[in-house]
Amino acid sequence: MREFEKNIRKVEPYVPGEQPRNKVIKLNTNENPYPPSKRVTKALEEMDTDRLRLYPDPACQALRDALADFYHVNHDQVFVGVGSDDVLSMCFLTFFNSQKPILFPDITYSFYKVWAELYRIPYECQRLGEDFRIVKEDYYKENGGVIFPNPNAPTGLYEELDLVEDILRKNQDVIVIVDEAYVDFAGRSAMELIDQYENLIVVQTFSKARSMAGMRIGYAISNPRLIQYLNDAKYSFNSYTMNQAALVCGVEAVKDREYFEEGLHKIINTREWAKERFQELGFRCLDSSANFIFAMHPKYDARKLFEALKENGIYVRYWGSERIEQYLRITIGTREEMEALFEFLEEYVGK
Ligand code: PMP
Repeated sequence: MREFEKNIRKVEPYVPGEQPRNKVIKLNTNENPYPPSKRVTKALEEMDTDRLRLYPDPACQALRDALADFYHVNHDQVFVGVGSDDVLSMCFLTFFNSQKPILFPDITYSFYKVWAELYRIPYECQRLGEDFRIVKEDYYKENGGVIFPNPNAPTGLYEELDLVEDILRKNQDVIVIVDEAYVDFAGRSAMELIDQYENLIVVQTFSKARSMAGMRIGYAISNPRLIQYLNDAKYSFNSYTMNQAALVCGVEAVKDREYFEEGLHKIINTREWAKERFQELGFRCLDSSANFIFAMHPKYDARKLFEALKENGIYVRYWGSERIEQYLRITIGTREEMEALFEFLEEYVGK
């Protein structure tokens, strides 16, 4: 093996969920089953295509202003990027560069490990408890930074802000990133702690609650100093990260608060109803606070069930990795999609 191949050959690449081209019931990548706000459609229809000749605003000012208004922070506390994956990867590059390992849960968003390996950042995975919850004391040791999603993925479990604060307090010298891709379906956001903790970065996305995974918009909220560092890194890396359509549509989506909240309620109601249905069929579900449910059936092999579902045009997510071999992750779809899922499952488990 040549020298230049060594690192990349070590990296186990992230494998995204399938995006089939035929029409299926797609419950495998936690997208929103409803369309984005009508304001987004209108903005696309009315978009001045002549504007596409020009580079987009590298500062992404209009989108940062809209997000600042929405969250009652200053625009210099907002960083935007091409999906939260881009924002998170920028955070890894910018802040996780000590010789000490960064810490994250052993069962979590698999991209953390990929970025750490790709950017040669030492890391140490912390075992979730038997109940799949974060054990906060594991994050009190010396480290080069901390990252965890809240709610966690793929468990869907939400940790109260007391736990987040304890981790922040014990890690004042390093950056703590709270990845809140699913927080809108859950509870209080760590954003309310931004003024108290200088080491906190909260990352969110337009891909879930705002129904715009295809537009690729994510953002970080923090104090102006850390946001400035992220912008410095971004400008040195790729100053025009976001495209013009995403900048324009992102603003419109943020402004439609009513549609955003309506959509959340629909998904949360379907989730709570789906939890009951799963339990009636003998599944064990973790108490998800996200737009997906992590479930297992003690009598049926998860891989076989995953394959049977797929054969019947219902796509869910299965990893088969240690401790979660028996679990499937099922995105909350429309009520009709979930009814089709349960119709299949009823037959499968013979009820
Ligand atoms: N964080 C978590 C925990 C996720 O599950 C995902 C994607 N499913 C992301 C971040 C990235 O989302 P996006 O890049 O679409 O914003």
